[in-house]
Amino acid sequence: MTESAPSLLPRVAVVLLAGGQGIRAGFDQPKQLELLGGKPVLRWSLDSFAAHPAISGGVLVANNDVMTAIGLLPERWISADPGAERQQSVGNALAALAEWDDEAFVLVHDAARPGVSPEVIDRLLDALQTSDAAIPTLPVPDTLVEQAHDEAGDVVDRSVLARVQTPQAFRLGILRRAHAEAVEAAATDDAQLVRRLGIAVAAVPGDARLHKLTYAEDMAILSALLGAGVMMRTAVGMGYDVHRLVAGKPLWIGGIEIAHSHGLKGHSDADVALHALTDAILGALADGDIGDHFPPSDPQWRGAASHRFLRFAGERVMARGGRIDHVDLTIIAEAPKIGPHRDAIRARIAEILAIPLGRISVKATTTERLGFAGRREGIATQAVATLKLPEN
Ligand code: MG
Repeated sequence: MTESAPSLLPRVAVVLLAGGQGIRAGFDQPKQLELLGGKPVLRWSLDSFAAHPAISGGVLVANNDVMTAIGLLPERWISADPGAERQQSVGNALAALAEWDDEAFVLVHDAARPGVSPEVIDRLLDALQTSDAAIPTLPVPDTLVEQAHDEAGDVVDRSVLARVQTPQAFRLGILRRAHAEAVEAAATDDAQLVRRLGIAVAAVPGDARLHKLTYAEDMAILSALLGAGVMMRTAVGMGYDVHRLVAGKPLWIGGIEIAHSHGLKGHSDADVALHALTDAILGALADGDIGDHFPPSDPQWRGAASHRFLRFAGERVMARGGRIDHVDLTIIAEAPKIGPHRDAIRARIAEILAIPLGRISVKATTTERLGFAGRREGIATQAVATLKLPEN
């Protein structure tokens, strides 16, 4: 350990191999640049590694064309030139990691496997606590036979076989030794080089999503495995709104009219619940607030029904390729009683946003006669919206 690395866990580097030309696969550009869900194949694993909290940095092994196409590297990532063979590419990456100490961990990954999950990374790093090397493997589900030309032979015992994936994980010092002592120049698997040193390699459960892009038809398989080709992230937004109660106005809350002596004052219909919810959705989209999209100074919104604002926010979510997972509202009013209208409000919001009733929660509370709401001077609403949005 160096003096500058006092943490309990060793530092973790990634070697991401993207040097191949992919010509065999029948693509008209290197396969690691093919677009999967709108994002280059290489970028999928690069982003997954960059987002993992245990990983300190990495080396992207790629030629200039690939580097240019991929754009900016994540922080603390550097690049290295590919070699003629895979083993040489790993060697160039190890040279680029010269300042890292032997106790560090390194994950060697093939960019043609875009579906790197944090779970697989965690399993590999856990295994390195007790092993010098670890690889992800999957069982072989099909019956295997020997075959010579076009004649099937005897069944092979598949219970002793496994499919090997990447990333493969090593103590950096061990991988350095394995490469320094390698006799042949074209090893396709780093774990085998390590085994030749007499060092055991642990096998951890692999992941179907680590399917390798080899042929053009693999794009459809990967697209399905990785969720219609688009990785989604969760975004949460909050909204808060208050309107003043005045005598002799209709009272609109949550898209329905409620019979009451007072109504809410505002430029539009002043539906405090739909305004808070609209802001919550815009917040999750990081898309400003209701006043940005519907300025009170604009006369066209005078007296406007607020379901239009909420519908607009819902459409912004759809335009982004996202969806609304859940909304939750708390309406803060001394009077009228909101409880009897809760189900009607939920149904109206479900209708406006075109989402199932089960994703909509409406609650109500008083403030024990304290503050402006308690004095019946106004009504407030808090809202939280949880969305799923495409990762890129
Ligand atoms: Mg408002």
